[in-house]
Amino acid sequence: MDLMHIEDEIERVVVTQEDLQAKIKELAARIDKDYEGKDLILIGVLKGAIMAMADLSRALQRHVEMDWMAVSSYGSGTKSSGVVRILKDLDRDITGRNVLIVEDIIDSGLTLSWLKANLESRGAQNVEILSILRKPDAAKVAVDVKYVGFEISPEFVVGYGLDFDEKYRNLPFIGVLAKHMYS
Ligand code: IMP
Ligand code: MG
Repeated sequence: MDLMHIEDEIERVVVTQEDLQAKIKELAARIDKDYEGKDLILIGVLKGAIMAMADLSRALQRHVEMDWMAVSSYGSGTKSSGVVRILKDLDRDITGRNVLIVEDIIDSGLTLSWLKANLESRGAQNVEILSILRKPDAAKVAVDVKYVGFEISPEFVVGYGLDFDEKYRNLPFIGVLAKHMYS
């Protein structure tokens, strides 16, 4: 869906479609290089990572496996607590594998630091993280993220997989949701 259809719902565009696609290409080239000669499995965190997974996997010039996890972090409303529940687990064993977690956004970092530790505990050879966005001001946990698309300010954003009440995931850009949409 294009901006023109929901212009009054988006306060401003934070990352354009062009900038997203250019960044995905750049990250894919780095990943191709970093994992040359090694196996690689991408693990997408549902549902926010769907767009990043679809674009990143197609930009990679190599074989790659894809698997998915769905997690829910307990907490009050929009803040995550770090207590994570697995709603959908991996289909395949990752023992001895090189794993790259693909996420939409790191806010507190609590969800990803839990997930990284969880996957490492299953005997993966190596677990790294890619996140399209990072809100650095909100970092409660020092989680080591190997690939970051864009650093953004701590505002609530939607689009490119990110939702508000399950909507806006299908925007090809990332924007700040207008305040009147949630107050
Ligand atoms: P945290 O890093 O554990 O705080 O949680 C990150 C998760 O919270 C992400 O995977 C998103 O699902 C959600 N989230 C955090 N910030 C935003 C936002 O600005 N828009 C939409 N979802 C967000
Ligand atoms: Mg998410």
